[in-house]
Amino acid sequence: MQNADLLEFFDAVEELSYSKVERIVPDDYLSDKTPGLEGRSFGLIIPQTPETVGQVIRLANLHGVPLVVRGAGTGKSGGAVPLDGDVVLSLELLNRIHEVDVANCMVSVESGVILSDLKRSVAEAGLWYPPDPASETTCSIGGNVAVNAGGPSCLKYGVTGDYVVGLKGFFPTGESFSLGGKLRKNVAGFDLIKLLVGSEGVLGVITEITLRLVSPSSASQDVLYMADTMDEAMTIVQSVCTRYQPVLAEYWTKECVDSVFNCKGKNVSIPQTPVYVVFRFEGDHHNAVLDQINRLVSTEGVVDKWKTDLDWDVLWDCRKNISPALTELGGMKRSEDVTVPPASIGEMMLFLGHLNDQSPLKIIGYGHLGDGNIHVNVLKMDLPDSEWESVSMDVMSQVVNEAIRLGGTITGEHGVGVSKKRFMSTQFDEKTLGLMRAIKHAFDPNRILGRGKIL
Ligand SMILES: Cc1cc2nc3c(=O)[nH]c(=O)nc-3n(C[C@H](O)[C@H](O)[C@H](O)COP(=O)(O)OP(=O)(O)OC[C@H]3O[C@@H](n4cnc5c(N)ncnc54)[C@H](O)[C@@H]3O)c2cc1C
Repeated sequence: MQNADLLEFFDAVEELSYSKVERIVPDDYLSDKTPGLEGRSFGLIIPQTPETVGQVIRLANLHGVPLVVRGAGTGKSGGAVPLDGDVVLSLELLNRIHEVDVANCMVSVESGVILSDLKRSVAEAGLWYPPDPASETTCSIGGNVAVNAGGPSCLKYGVTGDYVVGLKGFFPTGESFSLGGKLRKNVAGFDLIKLLVGSEGVLGVITEITLRLVSPSSASQDVLYMADTMDEAMTIVQSVCTRYQPVLAEYWTKECVDSVFNCKGKNVSIPQTPVYVVFRFEGDHHNAVLDQINRLVSTEGVVDKWKTDLDWDVLWDCRKNISPALTELGGMKRSEDVTVPPASIGEMMLFLGHLNDQSPLKIIGYGHLGDGNIHVNVLKMDLPDSEWESVSMDVMSQVVNEAIRLGGTITGEHGVGVSKKRFMSTQFDEKTLGLMRAIKHAFDPNRILGRGKIL
C-alpha cells in the first residue's frame, strides 16, 4: 500500500456524510482481549449507517487499502486487531434494534448492538435469545455472529449460528448482500449464511442480523455438585447429561476460586470443594424444577454433595472473574479453548494433569464440561520471561495435538483469528486448507478484509 493511496482513501472517506475518521488511532483500537497482542493501524473509520460501510469498502478496493472489521473488541483470538497498519472499520455505531417481531418470534438488529441490550429488548417483549457468552454486557451481536460465539447455555440451546436466519451486509468487494430473512426453513442454494457465520470478518462485513427467538422457560434452578476429584466430576456430568437435559454443566476448580478471592483481596464464603460442577435445570414451574432436582439428588451420588441454597450471584461472579484472576496469578497467561467429544473429556483432563506435572508452567482448565469445551490456561509463574514464548508455545502445541488426536477442534468458541492460525494445519489437511483459501479468494480477490487472519 502506497502512502499516496492511503491519503487519497482517507480524503475520500472524510467526504462521506455518515462516518467518523481518526488518522491517529486510539490505543483501545489496537488490541482486543487476546493476551499480549497489540497491532498497528494507519487509521480508524466508524461508519454511522450500513450504506456508509459499503461506501468505505468500495473506496478501500479502489485504493487498495486493507481493512480489519471490529465489533466491540472483546475477541480472544486477535481477529479485530489490525496487523501491519490495516485500517480499522469499527461497527460500534451501528447499534439500532430495528424490530422485535413477536408474531414471527424474531428480532432484527444492526450488528453493533451490545448483546445484553438485545437480550433485554427481547425479554421485554416476552421472548428469549439463549446464547450467553460471558462477555454479554460488552460484546456485539455482530462479533458473536462473526465468531459463532457460545456460552454455558449452549449445552441445551446451541450456539449463535443456530439462531441466525438472516444477514445483510457487504462482500469484501463492496457489493451488498441480503441473505435469508424471517424464515424458519430455507434451503435454497448453497448456505452462505452458514459460511458467513464464524467467518471472522474475512468473507464479508455483516451490518444487519435477523435472529430467531424462543419462549423463555418459566422457572430454573442452579445446582452445585461438590466433587472430590476431576474423575468424579466427569462421571456425574456424563450421568446427568445423558439422563436429564441440563441447560448448562460448568466446572471449575478450587485453584480457580482461590485465585479469584486472592486477586480481589476478599474471602467470600462459598462452599469449599476441590471441583465445582454447576448444573442448571429448568421447567414449567419452580416446583417441577425442584422435583426434578430432588429425583436427581436421590439417585446420583451422595446427597450432601448437592447444594441449591447458595448465594448464586457470588458463585457466578467468581466464575466470571476466573480468567483475569489467572492472568494476575501467572504474571503472563496463554489460553486456548480446545473442544473434544464430550465422552473424551476424561482423557483430555488426564492429559492436562500429566502435562501440568511435567511442565515448569502451571496449567489450569475450567469451562463447559458438558459440551467438552475446556478453557486451558497456561500460566508463566516463575519461568524467566526469556523462556516464556517457546515453553508456552510448546505446551499449547501439545494441548492442541492431544485435542485433535481425540477427535476435537482447536477452538470451540473464540475463533482462529491470529493466535490460533498456526494450529490450522494441525486440524486440517492441505486439500481442505486449499479449499478454504479458494473460498477466501472468491469472496475477496483484492485481499481487502482481515489480512493475515485465519489462513
Ligand atoms: C470476559 C470475556 C468473556 C468471554 N466469554 C466468552 C464466551 O463465554 N463465549 C464466547 O464465545 N466468547 C467469549 N468471549 C470472547 C468474545 O467476547 C466473543 O468472541 C465475542 O463474540 C466477540 O464479539 P466482539 O463484538 O467483541 O467482536 P470483536 O472482538 O470486535 O471481533 C471478533 C471477530 O469478529 C469480526 N467481526 C466483528 N464484527 C463483525 C461484523 N459485524 N461483520 C464481520 N465481522 C465482524 C472481527 O473482524 C473479528 O475477527 C469472551 C471475552 C471476554 C473478554
